[in-house]
Amino acid sequence: MSSVDLVVVGSGFAGSILARLVALSGRQVLLLERDTHPRFALGESSTPLAALCLERLAGRHGQEDLAALASYGRWRQALPALRCGLKRGFTFYRQRPDVSFSSSDSESRLLVAASPDDEVADCHWMRADVDKALVDRAIDAGVHFKDRAEVIGIDRRASLMAVDVQTPKGRETIGARFVVDGTGGGPLAQVLGAGRGPSLPFSSHLIYAHLDGVAEFQAAAALPDGPYPDDQAAVHHLLDEGWIYALRFDSGRLSAGLLLENAPTSTSPEDTWRATLSRYPTLSAAFARARPYGPGFRAAGPLQRRRQYAAGPGWALLPHSYAFFDPFFSTGLAWSLLGVERLADALCGPERETALGRYAALLADEADQQAALIAAAYSARRDMALFRPLTFLYFACVSYAEMRLRLGLVPNDNAAAWRGFLGAGQPPWPSVFAEARTRIEHARDAADAASFKKWVQAVIDPYNLIGLGEDPSHLYGVHLDRLRASHARLGLSPAELKARLPRLRGGQP
Ligand SMILES: Cc1cc2nc3c(=O)[nH]c(=O)nc-3n(C[C@H](O)[C@H](O)[C@H](O)COP(=O)(O)OP(=O)(O)OC[C@H]3O[C@@H](n4cnc5c(N)ncnc54)[C@H](O)[C@@H]3O)c2cc1C
Repeated sequence: MSSVDLVVVGSGFAGSILARLVALSGRQVLLLERDTHPRFALGESSTPLAALCLERLAGRHGQEDLAALASYGRWRQALPALRCGLKRGFTFYRQRPDVSFSSSDSESRLLVAASPDDEVADCHWMRADVDKALVDRAIDAGVHFKDRAEVIGIDRRASLMAVDVQTPKGRETIGARFVVDGTGGGPLAQVLGAGRGPSLPFSSHLIYAHLDGVAEFQAAAALPDGPYPDDQAAVHHLLDEGWIYALRFDSGRLSAGLLLENAPTSTSPEDTWRATLSRYPTLSAAFARARPYGPGFRAAGPLQRRRQYAAGPGWALLPHSYAFFDPFFSTGLAWSLLGVERLADALCGPERETALGRYAALLADEADQQAALIAAAYSARRDMALFRPLTFLYFACVSYAEMRLRLGLVPNDNAAAWRGFLGAGQPPWPSVFAEARTRIEHARDAADAASFKKWVQAVIDPYNLIGLGEDPSHLYGVHLDRLRASHARLGLSPAELKARLPRLRGGQP
C-alpha cells in the first residue's frame, strides 16, 4: 500500500486550499474528488470575515490568488476568467401573500451594507470556476490530485489510515498518516468516528437553480435608491413558507434557492417553486421570465446535519463536513475558511494533538451559535419588528470583529483564526442568539416586539459601530461619521481612530 502524509477527501474550495497549504510546507498530499471539475456547487455568497481570512492566508503563505478572491475590485483585475457577482451587503424583504411589495412600505425592507464601494466589496463566487481554479493552484503547489476517485471507506491500520478509493479503473487502497474529510457532509464522517451531534431545533428543504432572465427586484417593486443597488447583495425574501435567496452574477445569471420549513408535497421541484412564488405578486413578476439554466430546478433536504466530534486520532472534518444548518446570513464560506486556516496550523505545527482538540472544541461552540441564530431567524421571519433587531445582533457581532481586525486593534495574524466565529467563546455572545430565539418565540404582540428591540439595543450597544437600530428608513450604508462617533467602543480617542481609518479596505478618513 502506497502512503502519503495527508489525504484530503473532496476538492471543494476548502479541501483544495487546505491541500495546497499543507503541500507548501513540504508534505506529501493527495486530494481525492469523486466528481470532475468544473462542477456545479452551492455556497456562493462571501462575507467580510471570509475576505479577512483569505487575505491572512494569502499573506502568510504567499498565495496572492487568495487575496484576489477577497474583494470585487481585485478579483475583476487579477482573476477575470473566473465568474463572480458584486455583493455590497445584505438585503431583506418581508413578502406577504397576495400583497404587492410597495415602494412606500419601508418597514418591509432592510438593507445593511458590508462595504463602502464596489472596489472593496465582497463577491458571489461562481463555484464551478473558483473550485476548478483552486484545484489547479493546488496541483501547482505539488498536491497530487485524482478526480473520479470516490472514497468509499476508511479504516485504521496500525499507524496509518487506509483509504479505500473507487476509480473508473477499479478499487485501490492508499495509506495516509492523516485524513481530512472535506466532502461537505456524508457517510465518511460516521466511518471516521465523528458520531451524530445533538438534534436540531428546526429543519428546511431546498429547491434551487441558476436562472437567466430574472428582473431586478428593486426595479420590479420600483423601490427608491438605498445605500447600494438592492440586488447587488445577498437578497433574502422572507416568506410565510420559508425564505428565498437570490445572488446575482455579473452576467445577470441568478443563483436562487427556496428554503421551505415543510417538505414539499409536489414531486416536481419546479412545480413547488412556481406554486410558492405565485402567492407573492411582485416576486412572481420579477421571476416571470426566468429560464432555468443547465439541469433546471433541483431539490435537497432536509439540509440540517451535525456531527458530534470534528477531530479524532488521525482524522479531522472541515466545518461543512462537521455541521450545516441553513444558508441564512451566508456563514458557510467564512466558517469553512477559518477551518482551513486552523487545520493548516494544526497539521503543520508542532502541537498537532493539542491544536486538533482546540479545533474540535471551537467548531462545536461555533455550530451552537449558528444553530441558535438560524433557528431564531426562522421564528422571526414573518414579523420584521422581530426579524430586524435579530439581524442587528448578527451584524453587530460580525462587524465589530471585522472592524477590530481591520483597524489593527487585535493582531490579524494566525491567532485571529482561533478566535471564535460568531462570538463563540466571547461573552456575551455565547448566550445571546439562544436567548433571542426564546424571546422571539414568546413574543405575542407589538409591545413584546418593542421590548425585544429594546433588549437587542442594550446587548449590541458596546459593539454597535454602525448605528444599527438608529435609522428609521432601515437602510444602513457604511458611514465613516458613524464609525468615528463610536471611537470609545473601540477603546480609541477620536485622533487614534482617525489615524487608523486608512487601514479599512479603501476607507479613507
Ligand atoms: C443551499 C446552500 C446555500 C449556501 N449558500 C452559502 C452562501 O451563500 N454563503 C456561504 O458562505 N455559504 C453558503 N453555503 C455553505 C457552503 O456551501 C459551504 O460552506 C461550502 O460549500 C463548503 O465548502 P467545502 O469545500 O467544505 O465543501 P463542498 O463545496 O461541499 O465540496 C465537497 C467536495 O467533496 C466531493 N466529495 C463528496 N464526497 C466524496 C467522496 N466520498 N470522495 C471524494 N470526493 C467526495 C464533492 O464532489 C465536492 O466536490 C450554502 C450551503 C447550501 C447547502
